[in-house]
Amino acid sequence: MMEANQGEYSLYARTRLGYLFYQRQVKKARERYPHGHSAPQPCRFPGVKILPIPVLSNNYSYLVIDTGSGRAAVVDPSDPLAVQAAIEEEGVMLEAIFCTHKHWDHSGGNAALHQRHSSCKVYGSALDAIPELTNSLEDREKVSVGCLTFEALATPGHTVGHMVYVLDGGPFGGPPCLFSGDLLFLAGCGRLFEGSPETMLASLDVAVGLGEDTLLWPGHEYALECLTFASLLELDNPALEQKLRWVTQQRQEKRSTVRPGGVPWLQLPPPAP
Ligand SMILES: [Zn+2]
Repeated sequence: MMEANQGEYSLYARTRLGYLFYQRQVKKARERYPHGHSAPQPCRFPGVKILPIPVLSNNYSYLVIDTGSGRAAVVDPSDPLAVQAAIEEEGVMLEAIFCTHKHWDHSGGNAALHQRHSSCKVYGSALDAIPELTNSLEDREKVSVGCLTFEALATPGHTVGHMVYVLDGGPFGGPPCLFSGDLLFLAGCGRLFEGSPETMLASLDVAVGLGEDTLLWPGHEYALECLTFASLLELDNPALEQKLRWVTQQRQEKRSTVRPGGVPWLQLPPPAP
């Protein structure tokens, strides 16, 4: 969640009213965007498939599949119906929910999915009151799902227990994949609801410290807003202008901007079954 003052924030994050507000948001978004707010593009490299699932009006959940074993993890399942539909369509077994933080638009589907997939674990920080949490993670702790390895990184600032998850692409000859929740978006970062600017900056530095080839999978479709704002601040930045042009075009066609473009290995055909 991004737009709220502190009073509204407390209601949303700390009371049942917040949950009711979230439920209304889900219902409205399902009516308004029966096929999701954006057209996502699945990304695959040998052994792994990453499927962005557009939920609510601008959130993303991600289904990450070990294609060899059919075991899967989901990051931030806010709308359980949309996530369940993707699980069924892919015919995979849900083993893990990785939750970046407690806000309903990232965690609201935890309960329904955990109920349906009873052996599935719910991971996140113990500092963040995550619904249905079964396994709390410490900074730098690793979790395996099939052949996939995820590393949790503590990144407080947006919330006190915010965590991001990095999928190790090494075993598959792919890049690391950062599931960044509300820490980092394409050209922007999350609001500082529960941390100081220094705390947030230190968390952003954690993300910056990952490899240059890291793919970013953010929690929201905010690229156009962030880049438009950035273009008002930086009047002569060709890289920014180029990205803004690309994003504007993507959004005109309601395409998701959380797609890696122009990366050579993405043009590889999918592996033979
Ligand atoms: Zn949030």
